[in-house]
Amino acid sequence: MKPFLYGIRYIVNRRIFRQDTPLICGLVLHNKCNLHCRHCQVNSRDTDAMSFEEATRVIDAFHKEGGRTLYLEGGEPFLWKDNGHGLEDIVSHSHEKGYHTVVIYTNGTFPLETLADMVFISVDGLREKNDFLRGRSFEKIIRNIRASGHSSLYINYTINNYNKGDIQEFCRYFDGIPQVRGVFFYFHTPYYGYDELYIGTEERNKIIRELLTYTGRYKILNSRAGLRSALKNNWDRPLDICRVYEAGKIYKCCRYNEDPELCRQCGYLSYAEIHQTLRLRPSAIRNALKYF
Ligand code: SF4
Repeated sequence: MKPFLYGIRYIVNRRIFRQDTPLICGLVLHNKCNLHCRHCQVNSRDTDAMSFEEATRVIDAFHKEGGRTLYLEGGEPFLWKDNGHGLEDIVSHSHEKGYHTVVIYTNGTFPLETLADMVFISVDGLREKNDFLRGRSFEKIIRNIRASGHSSLYINYTINNYNKGDIQEFCRYFDGIPQVRGVFFYFHTPYYGYDELYIGTEERNKIIRELLTYTGRYKILNSRAGLRSALKNNWDRPLDICRVYEAGKIYKCCRYNEDPELCRQCGYLSYAEIHQTLRLRPSAIRNALKYF
């Protein structure tokens, strides 16, 4: 109930009083990861891992600015440690501070037991495609999902040139796993240039239209309004109400926000959702409520 009421207050304050308090705050705990995915180069970013003291200081500062939703990412957040502190200490501190929703983004290869409110697990296709893109991990991820007692597990699927044909089969597969509450689709963003995974506009739009026919049939978390906005490529960006902290710096929207051409090609569709929710599009609001 608290996050719901907060969301309504937030929308009113933003639309009527033009407040720009952060809606979503993120922390990059470190860039270490046990996988070496083809599309990801964060483990080559030359930044220090966050200390527990730094993490709590930033969490407190975001809270003071009005932030109540926090996400923790890496690298792989379950690998993060500092001087006897682990990920759960950060989750507990955030709850004690007053965050309504704490989210973890993980590659799913560690046991999915946490006090965080939501866990998003990256899976980029069924076994063959996922393991080609992310390294051999599919079996382990599915085992961890099935063994988890967590009640809010979601899948993030990033569509690229290699896995674009798996979408419907993937939706069917995860419909059969009751622990998974939904699948959110993104598109590969060419953060490091136009590589072989990048899908051009025409084909991307074809896939979005395909996704529009699947909403309602499968546990898809993208709303129709969000997908239509992706089709028009017209959501606001960089989205300044989403902040992410890494190594002493706060970025608006994401860590790669200085290239307008990259932003124009952005496949980070959850920001299209947020934009549509703030514009009070009914399907985006309905889908946002599915998280609670
Ligand atoms: S690439 Fe641009 S639009 Fe996409 S998440 Fe990053 S800053 Fe936002």
